[in-house]
Amino acid sequence: MLGFKESPWIIHYDASSCNGCDIETLACLTPLYDVERLGVVNTGNPKHADIFLVTGAVNEQSRDVIRNIYHQLPEPKVVVAVGICAASGGIFRDCYNICGGVDSVIPVDVYVPGCAARPEAIIDGVVKALGVLERKHREMVAIANSIDKILYLRAEAIDAPEILALQKVAYQSEAEIYGDDSLPALQQTLEDLKDDFERRPQREATVLGARDSSAAGPDRIVFLKAVVNGKIIGSVRGYAVDSTAYLSRLIVHPYFRKRGIGRRLLDEIEKAFPGVTRFETKTGQQSKRNLYQLAQRGYETFKTEPFTPAITWVCLQKERKPAIRSETPVLQP
Ligand code: SF4
Repeated sequence: MLGFKESPWIIHYDASSCNGCDIETLACLTPLYDVERLGVVNTGNPKHADIFLVTGAVNEQSRDVIRNIYHQLPEPKVVVAVGICAASGGIFRDCYNICGGVDSVIPVDVYVPGCAARPEAIIDGVVKALGVLERKHREMVAIANSIDKILYLRAEAIDAPEILALQKVAYQSEAEIYGDDSLPALQQTLEDLKDDFERRPQREATVLGARDSSAAGPDRIVFLKAVVNGKIIGSVRGYAVDSTAYLSRLIVHPYFRKRGIGRRLLDEIEKAFPGVTRFETKTGQQSKRNLYQLAQRGYETFKTEPFTPAITWVCLQKERKPAIRSETPVLQP
């Protein structure tokens, strides 16, 4: 942790700036401000960086590059959007090729205002980023030390903002696989997610991909969360129509993957539907980790569905064994 505070390493990327914010960023390195004397290093290698500093609005060409760089930064990492263009698209936001601010592609932790952002404001943003970095590091250490004390609980509407933030982080790796951030999980808004916590049968069927929305209306969507130290690090949701439970959005924070959390969430969501005899879910055809995990839990492919030119859904199902059917859910309502 001392290394972060004493010498934060930064990678700077110009998404499509007019160069105003870039010049001000580089001015921080000149003798007048000389941030290197404070230990700040401007690195060209994302794998060495703690802070990802982005200037300019995101366009079609820079979108994949931003995502690619972001994924190469080790955890914990902080993203700083410098200038109004990086925050929202700024004066270019209505241009034909502009997708929006940096947070339309990756999660942003610190916004630096200004057009152009002044070097003092950029340095202030980096100092704020150090605080965020320190907090993230503390949380990760605390969670790693108590990973064996994870609670698997029902999530409520009050958890929606935290689940949505986790969803956006967790699905970044899927977007990178397909080079496509039009995935529904990345496009979902907080209002949408809050609605999903309510009983809205027709809409639920559309959102989660039920095959037959005209059948008996589904029950309320069940949300589960994996919580450690009061923080949600995993989640899954599902609902039942007749004798089938439709499961979706099995997410685990990237830092806590390969620890059995996703497997346990899947088991728990199945137990939350004791009355069904069949489970159905879907994932992308190139999501090898998801396909492997689902195959390990007994799911088998029964059809594929094209979704976008890059993504084909693989639909998987699993019949519940009679012995398990009588099990009582372990989760408390
Ligand atoms: S915020 Fe202003 S100075 Fe910075 S990139 Fe946008 S237009 Fe240029």
